[in-house]
Amino acid sequence: MSMKKLSNTIDPSIVEDESRIAFTKLNDAQIERIRRIAEHREFSDGELLWSVGDRAASFYIVLSGAVEIRQPLPEGGMRLIVTHGPGEFTGDVDLLSSKATVVAGVASGPTIALKINQNGLKKLVVSDPEISDQLLAAFLARRRLLVAQNHGEITLVGSRYSPELYALREFLERNSRPFNWIDVESDPAAERLIKSFQLSIDETPAVVTAQGTVCRNPSVERLAAELGLSDIGSGEIYDMAVVGAGPAGLAAAVYAGSEGLNTIVLDARAPGGQAATSSKIENYLGFPMGISGFELAQNALVQAEKFGVRFATPRRAVKLVPDGPVYRIKLEGADEVKARTVIAACGVRYRRLPAENAEKFEGRGIYFAATRMEGDLCAQEEIAIVGGGNSAGQAAVFLANSARQVHIVIRSGGLNHSMSRYLINRVMALPNVRLHQHTEIQRFNGENRLRGIRVRNNQTDRLTELPVTHVFAFIGAEANTAWLNGAVHLDKNGFVYTGDALARDQLEASHWPDGIRPSAFETNLPGVFAVGDVRCGSVKRVASAVGEGSVVVSSVHRRVAGLNALV
Ligand SMILES: Cc1cc2nc3c(=O)[nH]c(=O)nc-3n(C[C@H](O)[C@H](O)[C@H](O)COP(=O)(O)OP(=O)(O)OC[C@H]3O[C@@H](n4cnc5c(N)ncnc54)[C@H](O)[C@@H]3O)c2cc1C
Repeated sequence: MSMKKLSNTIDPSIVEDESRIAFTKLNDAQIERIRRIAEHREFSDGELLWSVGDRAASFYIVLSGAVEIRQPLPEGGMRLIVTHGPGEFTGDVDLLSSKATVVAGVASGPTIALKINQNGLKKLVVSDPEISDQLLAAFLARRRLLVAQNHGEITLVGSRYSPELYALREFLERNSRPFNWIDVESDPAAERLIKSFQLSIDETPAVVTAQGTVCRNPSVERLAAELGLSDIGSGEIYDMAVVGAGPAGLAAAVYAGSEGLNTIVLDARAPGGQAATSSKIENYLGFPMGISGFELAQNALVQAEKFGVRFATPRRAVKLVPDGPVYRIKLEGADEVKARTVIAACGVRYRRLPAENAEKFEGRGIYFAATRMEGDLCAQEEIAIVGGGNSAGQAAVFLANSARQVHIVIRSGGLNHSMSRYLINRVMALPNVRLHQHTEIQRFNGENRLRGIRVRNNQTDRLTELPVTHVFAFIGAEANTAWLNGAVHLDKNGFVYTGDALARDQLEASHWPDGIRPSAFETNLPGVFAVGDVRCGSVKRVASAVGEGSVVVSSVHRRVAGLNALV
């Protein structure tokens, strides 16, 4: 592949960094190893190797000729993404998870290639570490390139002020699905597209697929089903079901998958949890320059998928029901998942702001994350961040890059008790950041979009109007345990009791045999575990969540082995 052959719309700095990893050649020795397990195929010029949306696309290594990677354009026709020549290989992360591919592959001239189906590819990456490293690094970089350029197989049409559009964009971004977005407020292509698909503004946001079908006002659930992201399998009983794909759930998935447990991970939103809403995690071991939570999560996701773990999003657990030796996890809608063991890794969520009109502006002026997407939204705007913890500090540092003015609104008299010293220093050194102490938001102003906030000084009662258009809330968290209520013991704040924190009478009520105690992360229900932020007494950090998620798998093994011995 030559970099020159890439579409010229790519930001050159991204091309330079990512292309080196994304488009490498396999050497002769590697090709020989692959030849032993591959099928030899010949294609004529223009022949399709796979099409967009194919969930069973194979992996190819070009021996002679070339394979063009193409993607449909919203206005019709195809764009050339890249051309793979001899020694180069096709594919991206979707090949490991049987998701619909976002590009098509077409032979350019008479072409000979080695072909491996998805199962063969999974076996290859598990058994050949040298080839695995090269392929996985390339697959991840290719996906990053597509996402960075908004080169997707689907096009969203909608207004930047629409909360429904924000929900669809957030879902696609956080699930790493590349997409095009036509903003009806500003994009010159919008009118043409709306006319050609006979859409009315009321029918936006709309999704136009690669095949030219239009979904009007689709829900996130419908879009996910179209893209094959929410499949839960067909009634099998999993060894382990993980509820929540934050750092704790992802770690449990990687260890369970690598140790051969048949595992499914369900998440109400997307992989990454709170960590994925952080622009940079600076204190996670081994990343001296910091790592974005999103990138950490994407790497972990691919790592788990490599070992055969199934992920389904958006899938919200609403109830846990013991049923003999298995558990049923009831999901929003009518579906359920059955598993021998359950890991509650469902973390916490930020509290909503207790101010007038807050609900009205959620998703169109009020946000609970500060990622690239929100950064783009507030370019050159005046914004406010509510909260004095590390999450608020990280958000301030990140958003101050794009926003014109950042107001930090805190109830207390300073940041010293709630934010790490290095972050306070960094935040206070930013010229466009202003701290409002002893201050609370009283009201959000605006009709269809946020035009400003009224804040009140809680010592003097003085009211001030701030002309902010975006507000980011990081004000304390509550446990995501509504689905566990009544099934496992929770503390008064809703966090899950595990191991030694469970009292004898709680265990007796759950019929634990005398003298037998739950393992460290086990709840009062045998085989149901809780790890990460949701666990009562946990340290609220990425590293501790990852640690707990990794360690819990040994107890899962014991439980599954015990159940198997009974059969
Ligand atoms: C902005 C921000 C910055 C941060 N920065 C740092 C940092 O620099 N260093 C650090 O160590 N920590 C940091 N943290 C804290 C860290 O991210 C958390 O401690 C960590 O993510 C906890 O992981 P977890 O897997 O336990 O839960 P979470 O990350 O909360 O993940 C839980 C997941 O469960 C899903 N879920 C919830 N309920 C359900 C349900 N009913 N059904 C299905 N799925 C469900 C959620 O959608 C979510 O994806 C930060 C947090 C935030 C918000």
